[in-house]
Amino acid sequence: MNKSIKIKKIMVAILAVLVLLAGSYIGYRIVTEHQRRSRIVAAFAAEQGYDSKLNERYIAYYDSNSEVSVTELLALVNNDLDQLETGYDPRLIGFLSVEGYEKESVQRYLAYSDKTGADEETVVGLVNHDIDQTDVEYGERLIAILDDPYFLWNRVTRYCEYDAEHAGEELTARQLVERVNCNLDMIPKNGDFHADPSQGYLVLVNNYYDIADSYVPDNLVDVDKAFSSKGARMNTEAYENLVAMADAAKKVGYKVTINGDNGYRSYSYQKTVYDYYCKMLGREDGEKRAAQPGYSEHQTGLAVDLAVDKKAKGFSWLAENCYKYGYIVRYPDDKTDITGYTYERWHFRYVGAQAAEYIHETGITFDEYYAFFIEGR
Ligand SMILES: [Zn+2]
Repeated sequence: MNKSIKIKKIMVAILAVLVLLAGSYIGYRIVTEHQRRSRIVAAFAAEQGYDSKLNERYIAYYDSNSEVSVTELLALVNNDLDQLETGYDPRLIGFLSVEGYEKESVQRYLAYSDKTGADEETVVGLVNHDIDQTDVEYGERLIAILDDPYFLWNRVTRYCEYDAEHAGEELTARQLVERVNCNLDMIPKNGDFHADPSQGYLVLVNNYYDIADSYVPDNLVDVDKAFSSKGARMNTEAYENLVAMADAAKKVGYKVTINGDNGYRSYSYQKTVYDYYCKMLGREDGEKRAAQPGYSEHQTGLAVDLAVDKKAKGFSWLAENCYKYGYIVRYPDDKTDITGYTYERWHFRYVGAQAAEYIHETGITFDEYYAFFIEGR
């Protein structure tokens, strides 16, 4: 055999071995890379909300943020937050978990969070209501408003506006929130809101919530002559509870009756009462004594004007005990600016046991109770 041929054969053999080695190395690399990706995908697949169409993005996001939990990464990718130029930010998960989170506002959340240092829930709430676009400062005052127990997110803009307009009055946060919750920033008798009789005994009728002139409750009952010699009518349930309250009052020595026929009043009858007071006291004072027709809760059959003997003691017994029978003093002495009515110790409103007890314990008005618990956040 020729020597050069021999060398060639050896060379070819070496080359073959090299190719084989390189090939198996690349193969090995491909296999391990494949295994690595499979492991990552498997970790994501074990999470709720996993979407196989996003596999490439899960892997890429994981590769650049491997210190973050897969649960978080999956949530962020599923919400396209892996696409942010700013990259991963631990606050993103916080924003995401807040109810009302809006995808298109993420940059604003981050910016407002940088600026204020507020928690994620507060940031989302304030940005969603565009407070970050106003000159309202995130400081002690706004924090106190946000912390008020009856703070309503859907009124946050109104709180800020009212506060700016009444800056000179030095209102406490509670006073401010209470006023706006009771719509004092709105124009009364402007037809902005309407009473909702489907709320049953929790229906709200006041200077901001009007009731249709044609509305007549369908559950009226004639009151016993012993309660009203003038033949009042009332909502059945309210009347039953009035009877129970009067019985209890009697046991401790007070005789409770209805003042005249002042239970249910029709729209037209309310007009007579209203005209009477306006004529007697002038319109401004008259309106504080009797509601303009369409704004009187007497039209619901749930309000009643009571008379009691030993007046002062009798009325204070009623004020202390009426909640046990689902009643409240609707226009209290310390809330005349809120209700728009002078103190009417005789005017009771049936709101059911739960609301009555709450109002008795906390001292809020029914107007605010309605805003907070019925209309809600
Ligand atoms: Zn009344």
